[in-house]
Amino acid sequence: ALEAAQKILELIQEKGIEMVDFRIVDVPGRQHHITVPACEVDVDQLVRGIAFDGSSIQGFRGIEESDMVMRPVLTSAYVDPFMEAPTLGLNCTVYEPNGTRYERDPRYIAEKAEQYLAATGIADKAFFGPELEFFLFDDVRFDSSANGAFYAVDSEEAVWNTGKGDGPNLAYKVKNKSGYFPLPPTDTQQDIRTAMVKELMAAGIRVERHHHEVATAGQAEINFRFDTLTKTADHTMLYKYIVRNVARRYGKVATFMPKPIFGDNGSGMHVHQSLFKGDTPIFYEEGGYGNLSETALYYIGGILKHAPAVLAFSNPSTNSYKRLVPGYEAPVNLVFSKGNRSAAIRVPVAAVTPKSCRIEFRTPDGTSNPYLAFAAMLMAGIDGIRNRIDPREHGFGPVDKNIYELDAAEKALIQSVPGSFEESLQALEADHEFLLEGGVFTPDFIRAWIDLKRSSEIAPVNVRPHPYEFHLYLDL
Ligand code: GLN
Ligand code: MG
Ligand code: MG
Ligand code: MG
Repeated sequence: ALEAAQKILELIQEKGIEMVDFRIVDVPGRQHHITVPACEVDVDQLVRGIAFDGSSIQGFRGIEESDMVMRPVLTSAYVDPFMEAPTLGLNCTVYEPNGTRYERDPRYIAEKAEQYLAATGIADKAFFGPELEFFLFDDVRFDSSANGAFYAVDSEEAVWNTGKGDGPNLAYKVKNKSGYFPLPPTDTQQDIRTAMVKELMAAGIRVERHHHEVATAGQAEINFRFDTLTKTADHTMLYKYIVRNVARRYGKVATFMPKPIFGDNGSGMHVHQSLFKGDTPIFYEEGGYGNLSETALYYIGGILKHAPAVLAFSNPSTNSYKRLVPGYEAPVNLVFSKGNRSAAIRVPVAAVTPKSCRIEFRTPDGTSNPYLAFAAMLMAGIDGIRNRIDPREHGFGPVDKNIYELDAAEKALIQSVPGSFEESLQALEADHEFLLEGGVFTPDFIRAWIDLKRSSEIAPVNVRPHPYEFHLYLDL
């Protein structure tokens, strides 16, 4: 640690850093920061961390015991490009005043999930590769006439979305659900996405590609390279931070909200996953379904069996369930499939090698806290492997047809994702033993998560009149 701290001080000198920004992630998944002038930072402080008030952080502790410590992860340093003064960003982990780690720190839960995997002997590395989609809007307004609803004002390239693509001017405008993926001038977001990619690369994230997404109103996707669980959650936080701030630079608003626009595609966070033992990819077996090994099938079985509870972390917003409806490439059914994008788990088959053999869980979205969502998926997968849950014996497929188009009898055999956030939270209440294994999640944390989400999200949404209620009821 001393050596790493010494390196940070060298970096501060070398890059002419004036401010050092200590950052933590709260329970829902927002970052918070405290800034210290670089001349005040020394080795001791980098190793010991700095104090903060935990009572103001969502999901952390109450006012009566609020003193906490954030301690930097010394390998996480990056130069922040969005602040006027040269600033070094440092991700931190959270400690109790007595020096033990804080149980509700999401990053701690992610680290424990990785340690638990290694302890089971199943594998020593879990790789995660999330694909985060997002919208770029010109503005998001508060509309008092719509009774306190916020709504998105669509982007410059979009025809206002009527659900039929019949807006006024179609000259180089993206047509309904046709954003994937024409060239400029139809794609007006090329330069802004490229600017995002350049900042991501400068921050040390390996970007693989970027493109316009299907939705009309400036939907985008930038993909970065998979890595181990906690590291990938760190990358996900940084990705969202950079996307939001480059958008701001261009006068736009970026949102990872799963379904901002009715009648068009929503934004997902598909998560590619694989396990390795040493250098050996244990999800691959030539000749198996999609060249998957038995271990991979059991991992799939675990995720699909526990999916309703997992969704409480991977789709943790009231808006999440407005995306999980038929017809928009978002999964609705708890099945797996080769190449089928209407299944909750897709097994990629194009250009797949033993090392790149993986599963893609398509349900999650960007409102999740990546530390918790990845940890929950891994725990479900491990449970599947330990209990040899064969998805084929539990009605989870494989289904290689378009599931949206199955007939009623075929559909009746297939389980659906929960229809609302409340349903997922109830599933989590009933099914969370698999998360407690190895002390990865704690009963206190599960309780806190459910209470927080119910009281600060579900209940406030439920008591507010919805704009569409005016359409339905104004004249009734
Ligand atoms: N936007 C779709 C979703 O909600 C995915 C589209 C795609 O990447 N093929 O998951
Ligand atoms: Mg993609
Ligand atoms: Mg996509
Ligand atoms: Mg995908």
